[in-house]
Amino acid sequence: MEMTEERKQAHPCFNEEAKHTNARVHLPVAPKCNIQCNYCNRKYDCVNESRPGVTSSVLAPFQAVEYLRDLDGRIENLAVIGIAGPGDPFANPEETLETMRRVSKEFPEKIFCLSTNGLNLEPYIDEIAELNVSHVTITINAIDPKITAKIYKWVRFNKKVYRGEEGAAILLERQLACIAKLKARSITIKINSIIIPGINEDHIPEVAKKCAELGADVINCIPLIPTAETPFEAVEKPDTKMIFKTRTLCSEHLKIMSHCARCRADAAGLLGQDLNETHALLKEYSSR
Ligand code: SF4
Ligand code: SF4
Repeated sequence: MEMTEERKQAHPCFNEEAKHTNARVHLPVAPKCNIQCNYCNRKYDCVNESRPGVTSSVLAPFQAVEYLRDLDGRIENLAVIGIAGPGDPFANPEETLETMRRVSKEFPEKIFCLSTNGLNLEPYIDEIAELNVSHVTITINAIDPKITAKIYKWVRFNKKVYRGEEGAAILLERQLACIAKLKARSITIKINSIIIPGINEDHIPEVAKKCAELGADVINCIPLIPTAETPFEAVEKPDTKMIFKTRTLCSEHLKIMSHCARCRADAAGLLGQDLNETHALLKEYSSR
């Protein structure tokens, strides 16, 4: 099914007007990660798209489809099906693609969305485009390897672990390579940048500029939530002035998304409204 502009606008994360009416679900099928962000405690969900909280149950692709069938009957206007962890979708490419294949066949009218750190996305862009994935989020916190190196502990690429600026350069190169390729496949691209005081707050507008040049559509500047047992646990949370300034400077280059609800990797429902009922359902399907 061809994705029209009008249909794309039904995505509540990309169109604020749709957020009160259109729901989304995240299918937690991707447990592993291929990088270690200094703000992430892996006891929790990926904070790229999720607020720290209780660890999600993980579903196998077949369980994800069964869960979705059930959920679709319970949630009104379920417009978007996304994969956002709890690790990274492309550190688990088999599970992610298998899930996408199954759901795009059974729910061709839905919008498909993926959220990733971008390290291993590029080889799969043609395939996800064929599966009608229309929205992709990449978290890019810096475009200078010196700054990137302060944000990640390690990067695992082609079965090898890289640290410091070497790892940062690989991550950055892979992330930026995705943007033009996604654009060529008419996929809407959101950049997430975590505002980390003292590390990248003055640099994020540069990220916005570079990503805009490459074809990204929107940027979501997310304030850091300092998380226990991480290198950034003692970093101050960004204050409203810093958040406002960062977003204002970024808006010179890219459209800003500021209604981010920091969804968990197993979120379900309208943005900002996660239902306890669906968490129970998820547990039930993960143990089948
Ligand atoms: Fe897609 Fe992110 Fe919205 Fe989830 S929160 S549906 S991954 S844009
Ligand atoms: Fe954690 Fe997500 Fe970073 Fe992986 S990409 S380390 S899951 S925040």
